[in-house]
Parts: sequence; C-alpha cells; structure tokens
Amino acid sequence: MFKYIVVGAGLAGITIAERIANELNEQVLIIEKRGHIGGNVYDCYDEHGILIHKYGPHIFHTNNKKIWDYLSQFTAWKEYQHKVLGYVDGQLIPIPFNLNTIDKLFPAGMAARYTNKLIQTFGYGIKVPILELNKTEDVELRQLAQYVYEKVFLNYTTKQWDVSPDKVDGAVTARVPIHISRDDRYFQNTYQGMPLLGYTKMVENILNSNKIKIMLKTDFKEISQFNKNKIEIFEKTFNGKIVYTGNVDELFDYTFGELGYRSTKFDFEYIQEQHHQSVATVNYPNNYDFTRITEFKHMTGQKNTYGTTILREYPQKYDRNIVGRDVPMYPVLDDSNQQIYNKYKQEAEKYNNIIFAGRLAEYMYYDMDAVIAKALDTFKKLCRQ
Ligand code: FAD
Ligand code: UDP
Repeated sequence: MFKYIVVGAGLAGITIAERIANELNEQVLIIEKRGHIGGNVYDCYDEHGILIHKYGPHIFHTNNKKIWDYLSQFTAWKEYQHKVLGYVDGQLIPIPFNLNTIDKLFPAGMAARYTNKLIQTFGYGIKVPILELNKTEDVELRQLAQYVYEKVFLNYTTKQWDVSPDKVDGAVTARVPIHISRDDRYFQNTYQGMPLLGYTKMVENILNSNKIKIMLKTDFKEISQFNKNKIEIFEKTFNGKIVYTGNVDELFDYTFGELGYRSTKFDFEYIQEQHHQSVATVNYPNNYDFTRITEFKHMTGQKNTYGTTILREYPQKYDRNIVGRDVPMYPVLDDSNQQIYNKYKQEAEKYNNIIFAGRLAEYMYYDMDAVIAKALDTFKKLCRQ
C-alpha cells in the first residue's frame, strides 16, 4: 500500500515524510518506536504546566535561510538569543569565553594585555577553537589558553565524553570557540529562535497531511527482516523505499561491532520560585557530576506560572542493555567508529531500497538545521533513484 516507509519520527524522518507527501503526493508510513513524534526535539508540558524539552535543551539556530524559511512554513517564532554562563571558581562567567569573560576574571591591566594580544594575533570578531589557542607561541596567550583549557574545557569535556579535550574530535570543542569579541551570545547565527508554540506543535504541523500515517510504539526491528538482499516488512518483500533514521549497528544486529555513543540522564526538578538562575543555561565545568542546568522558562518565555522547572544533564556511558543509558545521544567521532560505520553503510548498499538520514543513521554530530538540510538533500536523492 505504501511506496515509502520512514523509520523514526525525528526531524530527519518527518522532513522527508513531509516532502514525500506534499511534493511527490505519495502516501508515506512513519514507524516510530517511541510513544511520541519529534524524536529528540519533543517537548511537552510537565505536571506543573511548564513547557519542558524531554531530551535536553533545544535552541534553533542557523545561517541557512532556506532551512529557516522551510521551518517557518510550520511555525511562527519567539525571538530568542541563547545565553550561557559558566560557574568557575565561585563566579558566573560568560560562555563562550570572550573578551567580557576576560574582564570579569582578571585584573584590569592583565585583562587589557590579553585582549590586545588576542586582537593583534587573531583579529577582532574571530572565533578560535581552544585547541588552536593552545598552540599559540606567545607566552602570555599560552597562559591564557591553559587557563581556559583547564577551567572551561578539561573537566566539562571529561564529564561529557569520558576523555580529555585533546582526545575528542577537534570539531567537538570547536563548537564552543573562544570569541574575540564582546558578543556574549552562545550562537551567533543569523536566524535564531524558539518555535512559538513549541517543537512538538511544529512537528505536528509538519506532519499535517492525510498522506502521512504514523505507527508509534513500533520498533522497525520487530516488523522487518533483512533477507538475501531483500527487505521484508510484516513478512512480505517490500519493494518501495525505506528511509532509516535510527542506529545502523542495531539495524544489522551489530554484525560489524557496536558503534560508540554517549548517553545522558535527564533530571528535571520543579522549584517554587519565579526564576532559578539569570540565564537559560549555566554550565558547571568543574563542579558536580552534571554538565549544565537549564531553566526552560528563559527559553520559552513562558510567563503564566510562578514556579519553574530546571534540568540537570548527567552524561552517561551508553549501554543499550541498561535502562537510563540506552538512548544514544551523541556519536563518538573517532577513526575506529568511522570504520565500523562504513561497514554498515556498505552493507546497506547491498539493498537498493534503504537510505540513511539523520544524526543517528549518518553517525554525525548534527544540529537541527544540518539534519533538515541533509534530509532535504536526501529527499532529492530519493527522487532521483
Ligand atoms: P532523532 O531525533 O534521534 O530521531 C530518530 C528517531 O528514530 C527517534 O524518535 C527514535 O525513537 C526513532 N528510532 C530509532 N530507531 C528506531 C527503530 N528501530 N524503529 C522505530 N523508530 C526508531 N540541535 C540544535 O540545533 N540546537 C540545540 O540546542 C540542540 N540541543 C541538543 C541537546 C541535546 C541534549 C541533544 C542530544 C541534541 C541536541 N541537538 C540540538 C541536536 C538535535 O537533537 C538533533 O540534531 C536532531 O534532533 C536529530 O534529529 P534526527 O531525526 O536525526 O534524530
Ligand atoms: N564544552 C566545554 N565546556 C563548556 C561548553 C562546551 O568543554 O562550557 C565542550 C564539551 O566538550 C562539549 C562541546 O564543547 O561536549 C560542545 O558543547 P555544546 O554546548 O555544543 O554541546 P551540546 O549542546 O551539543 O551538548
């Protein structure tokens, strides 16, 4: 009955399903193992009436106008610029580390010297990853780099990834570079905001087509079989196209080994106060087992409640067999995982009707905008096949 099946109702899956329904005018079935749509961007009201992000704080930000326009068909936006502070040596300092952070931490003369040297060496407005700043030859700048490395990156990264910053892919810490500017915003993208009525509402709008059918609480593994280069669904050979957005190692029964992930334990707490902290997120690089506390009301702008809900994120070693650690949140980008991933990709190519999309299936540390951009490309590829 369906020519197209999409596995996973996260942003990757729903974007492709929307295009199949509205551009190709074809029926599409989405299979989702969770009890809700939206994947990791799912938000909902908690028992206290506060809009929370069930899988961690999500702020939409992009420089890609095409992606902003695409999503703007399905949601209006609340203008929002994300601000983060870091709790370091008993003080709250602006993160990403920038010229304001320097002024806050160091005596005036020293701060001015650091600032001038940074501007002379890299230029005003430039963003420098910590691993690059570490390589600087100037003795004073190297001292500064060492300070930032130890106070902001070392312990946070060790909590998050279980290895030091020099052992994770450089692109990871480069996501939060040192800003040689006085712009305190966490993201400096041209387009930034929160879906006015929340992510789940936006996702519902994306899926609002009678050509899209959704089966929740259904694991693709349980209804499919890979057999002699044919894919069977409900015990019948499926000749249509499958877009798969889950873990690829699970899909092929871990034949080539398990891919590495980091997971997160999300600990929500409701507090009877108007606000708990002054900005949406406070990072705790050096204290506690959690990495950050997010207070949702700052992000969503919700004003109709007195109390507030906060979220502490505790990084976990991923283990598919242990509840609480079994949700893959972050791919561990290294050569050995890439080699394993490539084998699964090659395996998938034996079946000419399955295509991978999204953060899990492409094994990439994608933000939302990158997932959607890639999903739109994948849709075009699907049309050409
Ligand atoms: P997912 O959202 O993971 O969707 C995949 C779906 O497939 C899931 O619903 C899953 O249940 C389903 N599935 C998997 N296997 C099966 C199966 N066998 N059968 C059926 N269904 C299956 N990005 C930003 O741009 N800004 C942010 O502020 C931001 N914050 C983040 C914070 C955290 C803590 C995390 C983890 C990520 C954050 N991201 C952020 C990234 C963002 O969440 C992802 O880019 C995006 O949600 C990925 O969408 P996806 O569809 O690829 O994957
Ligand atoms: N990071 C850090 N200290 C911070 C913020 C970030 O060491 O205060 C590093 C850490 O390795 C983290 C990475 O930068 O995993 C990317 O941070 P980001 O905030 O982008 O992480 P995400 O929101 O994706 O969890």
